[in-house]
Amino acid sequence: MIKEMLKKGFEVEQEEQAKEEAKKVGNLRGGSCGAYFNGMTVGTCPRVTLLRKLGFQKGIDQTTDMIFEAGRANEEYLFRLFKKSPDVLFVANDYPMIDNDTFDATWSGRTDFYVRRKDGTEFVVESKCMVSQWPLFKLVKEDKPKLIAVLQLANYMNSLKMTEGYVIYSHYFIAEKGFKEKRVRYTPKIYEWKVDISGDTITYISESGVVTDTHIKLEHLKDYYDLIEQAEADKLLPDPPAWQAFQSYDGCGYCDFSKQCEEYDSGAIDYNEFMKEIELECK
Ligand code: SF4
Repeated sequence: MIKEMLKKGFEVEQEEQAKEEAKKVGNLRGGSCGAYFNGMTVGTCPRVTLLRKLGFQKGIDQTTDMIFEAGRANEEYLFRLFKKSPDVLFVANDYPMIDNDTFDATWSGRTDFYVRRKDGTEFVVESKCMVSQWPLFKLVKEDKPKLIAVLQLANYMNSLKMTEGYVIYSHYFIAEKGFKEKRVRYTPKIYEWKVDISGDTITYISESGVVTDTHIKLEHLKDYYDLIEQAEADKLLPDPPAWQAFQSYDGCGYCDFSKQCEEYDSGAIDYNEFMKEIELECK
């Protein structure tokens, strides 16, 4: 069976990726970032960020991997077009970086694209690929990228001392919404927002010119990483993020670690027991 052969290939790939991940244990990640302000966090759940730092991450199945593959294919497509664009002198995909001086915390990450134009100006890009129609409808209606994508890009821009950056979303499928004559058709498209970190707070502007102020400062990104380091030192888990204040769904409901978090929050287990249970969960 061909599918069986491919499944074995997937398993080998997973083993290779696990070895790569193991090299990063102990590092905070640029991709797992967030902001801490007014006593709450937004962005990646700080517990998930702490667990990633400690090397705990649940493996994925082949279905999830196929969804992720759409994102990788999207990056390859954009990379090819950047390389061929007559405006571009140089482009790097998955530009690696280790930041250990912008903030006190050391973290490693990769910007999706680092681009230098022929006129010498430079910018970075965080790209996302939409694989289902519901996020697409939400994105078009609100004309906003996910906050985590903006924070991630702001983190990279700040670290690279870059003043220009973009979050772009792509989708490659056709979606339809509505009934009969009111039907709206969404064809494959790229959406972009320009992110600005030069002001007091992080803002972004849509293609239609709408400016959104996140009310988040760069120092709040640093405070988030500090919170993780402190939680690890104190052996106390940080609180879950303020899901309801910043998105329409409760992220804990989709998390692999919700059972362990419920036990911890109810006082049934302490930090060390929580970590032991997570280790078992991730095996
Ligand atoms: S269940 Fe919620 S609080 Fe716990 S790790 Fe997952 S997202 Fe974070």
